Amino acid sequence: MATTSQPSALKNAVFIYSDDLLNYRFSNDHPFNQKRLQLTLDLLRKTNAISDEDIIPPRLATDEELSLVHDRAYIEAVKLAGEGKLPGEKAESYGLGTEDTPVFKGMHEASARLVGGTLTAVDMVMSKKAQHAVNLGGGLHHGFRGKASGFCIYNDSSVAIKYMQEKYGAKVLYIDTDAHHGDGVQWSFYDDPSVCTLSIHETGRYLFPGTGAVNERGHGKGYGYSFNIPLDAFTEDESFLAAYEQSFREIVEFFKPDVILTQNGADAHCLDPLTHLSSTMKIYGEIPRLAHQLAHEYCEGRWIAVGGGGYDIWRVVPRAWAQIWLEMSDFKLPSDAISSDWLNQWQKESPVPLISTWSDPDQLYKEIPRKKEISEKNQQTVEKALYPIRSQSIK
Ligand SMILES: [Zn+2]
Repeated sequence: MATTSQPSALKNAVFIYSDDLLNYRFSNDHPFNQKRLQLTLDLLRKTNAISDEDIIPPRLATDEELSLVHDRAYIEAVKLAGEGKLPGEKAESYGLGTEDTPVFKGMHEASARLVGGTLTAVDMVMSKKAQHAVNLGGGLHHGFRGKASGFCIYNDSSVAIKYMQEKYGAKVLYIDTDAHHGDGVQWSFYDDPSVCTLSIHETGRYLFPGTGAVNERGHGKGYGYSFNIPLDAFTEDESFLAAYEQSFREIVEFFKPDVILTQNGADAHCLDPLTHLSSTMKIYGEIPRLAHQLAHEYCEGRWIAVGGGGYDIWRVVPRAWAQIWLEMSDFKLPSDAISSDWLNQWQKESPVPLISTWSDPDQLYKEIPRKKEISEKNQQTVEKALYPIRSQSIK
């Protein structure tokens, strides 16, 4: 009787996590707070939606991997800063020690761990050990080649994309639904036609980083592979999702990627303290649902998701991010009620009353009087953004 050697089983999805990810911590009152990772995982555990064998610890990215995107001198500066050995003036020239991105002890290792988490996710998916993987510790989309910016030191997504190109020869589609423009990732691949980026964000008119206009379409050979949909302030669910669905579907059909990387900042929610969009939990169910579907339609399932912004860490981020995992792992919630164990566990620490359902209660925000005008404006923006694809397919 022949015995077949059993290849290691293909997992549906893996969740990258260890407590080391919590070491990325600027200060006690900084808005970027990785406690949201703990809150999200605990919500999934108490929902019985995840077990220990679904969880894989993040490795540390090597200097060589970081330098796929970052300057060696910058990496050295981050190391010195984390040891308290980088003079203030020097630090500032690297975007370190600013109000947004303060210096903290061990910052190189903590940042390299977030990148390593995304690389761990990439290897699981690209070597066919899992169909999907999520690293909520990643999504640091403002990191630049030689400069920290907007709470981001190393840019895990940029490193991961370069790594996928070099190690796996993959054509990558990057989809960024953070309320802030995914500038760092866009500029990393602005002249590269083998990477396509789409960022849907609140217009940069009043919001950091100010870029992400619809006419930022790429440069040189990369022209036509960078897409931006800047939404008006106070955009609501329907208009957000219309922009997301149209652009994602048309771009994936145009680009035909090997793999999809999604950045899942959860700061477009109306309760987020740093932004001005008016979406609700509805979009956080729909965003991963479409990514999941299109990854199966176009990429044999290859989908890697990372986290990103999200500054209401109690009421918004855990419910939003948990849904990425629920979608990836095909877990069906038995009801709309949030686990009472989870609510009891965290209510005493939360400065605000926690929300006890997966969906948001009605009337979370005041009616938007300019609703129609905003939706129409957004629709025009979508049309402008997709015009190059649409005009090509008419020819
Ligand atoms: Zn953001």
